[in-house]
Amino acid sequence: MKLIFSPLCLLAAFVMTFSAQAGQDDHFSDEDLAVARDLMEQGLAGDGGFEVVKDLTTRIGPRLAGTEDDARAVEWAENWLNDMDFDKVWLEPVTFPTWTRETERVEVRTPKIQSFEALAIGFSPATPEGGLESEVVMFDDLADLEAAEPDGVEGKIVFIRNRMERARDGSGYGPAVQARSLGASVAAEKGAKGLIIRSIGTSTNRFAHTGTMRFDDGMRRLPAAAISNPDADQLERLIELGEPVELFMEIDAQVNEPYTSHNVIAEITGSEKPEEIIALGAHLDSWDVGTGALDDGAGIAIITEAARLILESGHRPKRSIHIIYFAAEEIGLWGGRAWAEKHHENFDKVQVAAESDFGAGQIYELRARVVDEAWPVIQSIQTVLEPLGIDLGERRAFGGPDFSPSLPYGLAVADLQQDGTDYFDYHHTENDTLDKIDPEDLAQNAAAYAAFAWLTSQSPIQFGSGQALLDEEAAAED
Ligand SMILES: [Zn+2]
Repeated sequence: MKLIFSPLCLLAAFVMTFSAQAGQDDHFSDEDLAVARDLMEQGLAGDGGFEVVKDLTTRIGPRLAGTEDDARAVEWAENWLNDMDFDKVWLEPVTFPTWTRETERVEVRTPKIQSFEALAIGFSPATPEGGLESEVVMFDDLADLEAAEPDGVEGKIVFIRNRMERARDGSGYGPAVQARSLGASVAAEKGAKGLIIRSIGTSTNRFAHTGTMRFDDGMRRLPAAAISNPDADQLERLIELGEPVELFMEIDAQVNEPYTSHNVIAEITGSEKPEEIIALGAHLDSWDVGTGALDDGAGIAIITEAARLILESGHRPKRSIHIIYFAAEEIGLWGGRAWAEKHHENFDKVQVAAESDFGAGQIYELRARVVDEAWPVIQSIQTVLEPLGIDLGERRAFGGPDFSPSLPYGLAVADLQQDGTDYFDYHHTENDTLDKIDPEDLAQNAAAYAAFAWLTSQSPIQFGSGQALLDEEAAAED
């Protein structure tokens, strides 16, 4: 889907609603509202941080966690943030297992030789020398494989064919991605030799979508690769002909020594409650294919531009605002896990957190997980954001992947929900490149994040992170 709102429309709508809304709020002073609207106006007039993602994807390019590119990206981030007017910039270490891809090849051998576009799945081991060749057995989805008797699987290459459904909120991803996360370990338990999945993505182009498999110590893993959607269609048709189909797969890849990278954090120190924090996140690492422009260079751009807008407004927020570039998201949420571990005992000081990690589409909805008392504040914030085309969503939010390890500790989070209709056409592919980002869409995102961060920092009511939120949720369940 293309743009619903052009920036000009947005600006016009914005000016019209400005006068209607001024001074009509129970939670924020007229001055705070005026600053928020000014941030939005400046945000829409800017590039949304396009220069940030352009520089990152040009100078550093792909930046797989644990590689030299990871180290270069962290250095880039420190330099970039130090060149801005933040009060503090620092690094927090994150240690994780690493994996590198060398080559992958997937071919049909019977009934006739035919090669497929494939990418190994993260943490796939290498195939034995010379590759492996076997009859393929097809399953509808992970549950279908889980229910299978080992007899029909042993010694074969498993193919899971589930197809990801396109949806604005990306809700097709969760059910489909199970095949990639767990397929290799389930197939291994049943004695399979290898795993092939249909790419978890919505593109009909002939390239594959990579991603990681869940990797816990002691889990058996199999060589595993994703094939492009058109190749998965072809494989289904071949199997449906009813004759045995044999596949060949050859993967060269290694699990390497653990590596220590860093979450990179910058702070705008609050004027009245500096110890209380609004946390905006994005992840700095990317897959090794493409240049990680949408995933998640766009998020890095959006939160950085939001902070720049606040820094340049001349107004200091009451609470501190943290910009967090998370490490090693793609290969297992390691930066998010490290942040949760290090900070969860102080979550009563983290007011609210939100990560931008869903490409560069416009934001259409604000959702939040906050205590009852703070929900009207979220409603007020949404009213301010409404001229950007942002509606009020459910009282439920996820906060983005890197804040998900913090959810069990009661972190209050918001989702500035982006239109992800096209996101999974590019996600984790060679095609995730800078040209897919529209600076006008980025500008709408940065405008929204700037106003959101500003208003949450000024809120007279606490959002209830930590024990307060956990207690309230537990009480609601009784
Ligand atoms: Zn991402």
